[in-house]
Amino acid sequence: MADGPLLVFGPRSLDYDFGAAHPLTPRRFGPGVELLRWVGAVPTLAPEPAEDRELLGVHTPEYVEVVRRFSADPDGQVGLAGIDHLGDDPPFAGMHQAAAAVVGGSLRAVEAILDGEVEHAYHPGGGLHHAMPGRASGFCVYNDVAVAIARARADGARVLYVDLDVHHGDGVQVIHQADPQVLTLSFHETGRTLFPGTGFVGEVGEGAAAGTSINVPLEPLTGPEAWLAAIEAIVPPVAAAFGPDLVVSQHGADSHAWDPLAHLLVTTSAMGTAARLVDRIAHRHAGGAWLATGGGGYDVYRVVPRAWAFTWLAGAHREVPHHLPEQWRLRWDDEARRHGQAPLPEYFDDLPGTAGVSAGRESAAARDAGTVGLVRLIAVPTLLRVAQERGWWAPVSLVARRNGLPEETPAWSAIAGGDSGTAEPEILDPLTAEQLDRLAIAPWTVAPADPGEAWALLRNALADQRTGAVGAVAGGRLVGLAMAAPLERSPLGGEELPPATDWLLALGVAPGARGRGLGGGLLRALVRGPDRRGRQLVALLTVAERDPASPLTADARRSAGRRLLAGAGFRELPVPGELGLADRHALLAVHVGQGVPGQRVEALRAVLAEG
Ligand SMILES: [Zn+2]
Repeated sequence: MADGPLLVFGPRSLDYDFGAAHPLTPRRFGPGVELLRWVGAVPTLAPEPAEDRELLGVHTPEYVEVVRRFSADPDGQVGLAGIDHLGDDPPFAGMHQAAAAVVGGSLRAVEAILDGEVEHAYHPGGGLHHAMPGRASGFCVYNDVAVAIARARADGARVLYVDLDVHHGDGVQVIHQADPQVLTLSFHETGRTLFPGTGFVGEVGEGAAAGTSINVPLEPLTGPEAWLAAIEAIVPPVAAAFGPDLVVSQHGADSHAWDPLAHLLVTTSAMGTAARLVDRIAHRHAGGAWLATGGGGYDVYRVVPRAWAFTWLAGAHREVPHHLPEQWRLRWDDEARRHGQAPLPEYFDDLPGTAGVSAGRESAAARDAGTVGLVRLIAVPTLLRVAQERGWWAPVSLVARRNGLPEETPAWSAIAGGDSGTAEPEILDPLTAEQLDRLAIAPWTVAPADPGEAWALLRNALADQRTGAVGAVAGGRLVGLAMAAPLERSPLGGEELPPATDWLLALGVAPGARGRGLGGGLLRALVRGPDRRGRQLVALLTVAERDPASPLTADARRSAGRRLLAGAGFRELPVPGELGLADRHALLAVHVGQGVPGQRVEALRAVLAEG
């Protein structure tokens, strides 16, 4: 029974208990772990308290001291640091040890992954994503996920964090927001209607870490289709561009239609599909390294056990049974009834109609689609967005059949060696598909992060006759690229663009070839090309167009972008509406070729101003 994710659970898991009336109750472990065992999971890692030095990587010494005092004497003092008898995080005897044990579970699990002992681990009692460096929040005392991520960072791993809880993953975002090598991605009910009131699209991070906090606030009444569509539109391309070494995820079950604390209408089946997507992303982009955690979930009999089973089975690459076991239903039915969470369902999948059908759900889906489009502009590089639309490249997608093994990593064309070294790059103008066939590509020249994947994408893009590209080559490797292609509709708002409008898809230079003006030279060559007569070229540089491995600060990136664009004869336009508010460092500019009628330039400006 060693196959499947390492399951983290033990006697101490039950100690994290705010009292009988609290929604986050250890009662969930009874039916939850019993169902996990029934699907084949065996708890093999029993959490023990993390040491103070491990907590202190994330939490302040003052705060740990406060928790210790409450832990020793819950009634002896007034509320402090988010811990309060009347609040979300009431003190209880043994609070420090219980909360530190949740951290210990996630820490030992991530160490087992980093050491290569296991590919996947699942800690259903973890996922306490609201805890802040100096205070408890939202049922979370210590932030086990943030500590596990910090542990992986100490080993130099780049971490992608995916938070699917119905509440914004605010603590993890805040704790790692200054680190460009941790990308947090949270899908949640909008902060307009739900705790903690944060997680808006414009929270993108600052400085060199701008673009590494990504938030997808969803409308109340969002159903399973719109929820999954949002996840599929954003997680796979963001993962491909970022290139993590480790994926950490939080699978709170409180997005479910029956959850008493929130207003999304997601199903257990959709949660399972999302977990399978995260599993496949870990395999394709992170060598399989994946720590999954639980999180919220307050319908502890009807929903939480099934959600846990779906998550573990996703990591086990095993089928989900149809029927819940009869003996399990008999065992927990009375208790569920006493807590008003009965009758227990018969199936792992929710029955059709669980999420209801309402006009509200449809208008929520329409608004969600708008939010997702905006987030894609600031989270997914233009090259990947267009490559996806044109079929040049396909990220991981939701599995049509949800069972079976994850897909094989595609067999990319072998990447030849070679060293860009100090050789003066040679400009290939134009760069053709045939030339690329004889070249390798230097890492981090353009997205996606995997050079083999980037090469395959470019090969398909260059085979498209409408694409124009200029390349820089050194030592047999492509070390710089400027590329454009005609677009029919504006990525900003979907309106039709005037004829002969091209879009700048990529402008990238490999790290070893930077600092020699290569980017400017490539862009000037691109706009000088003989094909540019009578055409317009639009450049939109959002925070998505950063180098994920060694990013400049947002300000430096904007100055460099301005210089490059101005030097190639582009004229800057204001970034319209919501996009300008969400990414205040975004740049929009247009290059007008010789012989373009003034009327058309005006029409283009009008379309770009709408956004
Ligand atoms: Zn897997």
